[in-house]
Amino acid sequence: MSQASPYTGPVNSSAPVPSVVERLSAPRPGPVPFSVEFLPPKDADAEARMWRAVRVFERLDPAFVSLTYGAGGSTRDRTVRIAGQLATETTLVPVAHLTAVNHSIAELRSLVGAYADKGITNILALRGDPPGDPLGEWVKHPQGVSYAEELVELIGGLGQFHVGVASFPEGHHRAPDLDHDTRVLVSKLRTGAEYSVTQLFFDVDFYLRLRDRVAAADPEQGAKPIIPEILPITSLASVRRMVELSGSVLPASVEQRLIAAAGSGDQEDRAAVRAVGIDIATEMSQRLIAEGAPGLHFISLNFAKATCEVLDRLGVDTADALPLVSST
Ligand SMILES: Cc1cc2nc3c(=O)[nH]c(=O)nc-3n(C[C@H](O)[C@H](O)[C@H](O)COP(=O)(O)OP(=O)(O)OC[C@H]3O[C@@H](n4cnc5c(N)ncnc54)[C@H](O)[C@@H]3O)c2cc1C
Repeated sequence: MSQASPYTGPVNSSAPVPSVVERLSAPRPGPVPFSVEFLPPKDADAEARMWRAVRVFERLDPAFVSLTYGAGGSTRDRTVRIAGQLATETTLVPVAHLTAVNHSIAELRSLVGAYADKGITNILALRGDPPGDPLGEWVKHPQGVSYAEELVELIGGLGQFHVGVASFPEGHHRAPDLDHDTRVLVSKLRTGAEYSVTQLFFDVDFYLRLRDRVAAADPEQGAKPIIPEILPITSLASVRRMVELSGSVLPASVEQRLIAAAGSGDQEDRAAVRAVGIDIATEMSQRLIAEGAPGLHFISLNFAKATCEVLDRLGVDTADALPLVSST
C-alpha cells in the first residue's frame, strides 16, 4: 500500500485548488487522512530545516499542510512568501492561517489578496492572541475586527475562498462557559466556515464532547469536519509551555507518564520522553480514528521524524519518506 499518488493538484496549473473538505473526503489509501502544521521559521537555518520536513511530508501526500501566522502579524511577510512557495513549488495543498491582531480591515483585505495572488484559496481564519503574552488582554485594532467570525465574513466576501476556523475541545480560555464556546463555534460555521481545526488536547473525551455539543446545538453545522490537532510530544518542558500558552490542560495521567519517563536527573531524559510522547500520540490517533475523526492534523514544529513515526504505527506507508528524515 503506497501513499504516493500522481500529482493532481493546483501547482503551476490553472486547475482549481481543492478545498480542505474535498481533500479530506477524497478516496485515499491509509487508515485516515492526515495533515501537517508548519510554523514560519525564524531564520535561514530554520527555514532550510522546515523545507526538509516539507519534502518528507510531500512524499506522504497529506490532505493539506497549514502554515501558522506569527503572533500579531510579526511574521507577515515570511508567512505570505512561504505559503506562496508551498502553493507554487510543491504538490501540497496549503492552508494559510490569518489572524486579526494588529491589522486594520484594509490590511486584512490586502493580506487575503496577497494569498489569492499566490493561488492560495484555503484560509484558517483566527482572531489571534496578543503578541508577547497570549493570555494577556486582547485589544482590537481601531479599524479592525473583534472576533474570528467577522474575519470569516470578510474573507467570504472577497472571493471563492474555503475558510476554516479554530475549535476548542476544552473550551476557549476566554469563554465564560462551554455553552458560550459552542455558540461561538456554531456561529463561525454558520457564517461560512467549512470546517474547524482544534486546539491541541491530550484527552480524547474532550474532543468527543465538543463534537457532541456542536451536533446537539446545530446538526447541520455539526456535520462539518472537526479536525483534531495532534502533538507528538518530544519534550516535557516544551509541552508544558505549549499547553500553558494555549490555555489548555495536560491531564494528570498523561503528565505522570511523561514525568516517569523524564527521570529525576537535572535534564529530562529526552529519548525516553520522546518514546512515551510517540506512544501517547499513537494511542490518541487510534482512538480518534475509531471514533470517526475526519482526519488528524499533526503539529510538526517543522520536524518530520516524530510525526512520521506515529503515521508509521498507524499503518501509513512511510517507506518513501523515512529515508529522508534526519532529526526529531
Ligand atoms: C487550530 C488553531 C490554529 C491557530 N493558529 C494560530 C496562528 O496561526 N497564529 C496565532 O497567532 N494564533 C493561532 N491560534 C490561536 C488563536 O488565535 C487563539 O486561540 C485565539 O485566542 C482565539 O482565536 P479564535 O479564532 O478562536 O477567536 P474567536 O472565535 O474570535 O474567539 C475568541 C474569544 O472571543 C469569544 N467570542 C467569539 N465571538 C464572540 C462574540 N460574538 N461575542 C462574545 N464573545 C465572542 C470566544 O468565546 C473566545 O473566548 C490558533 C488556534 C488554533 C486552535
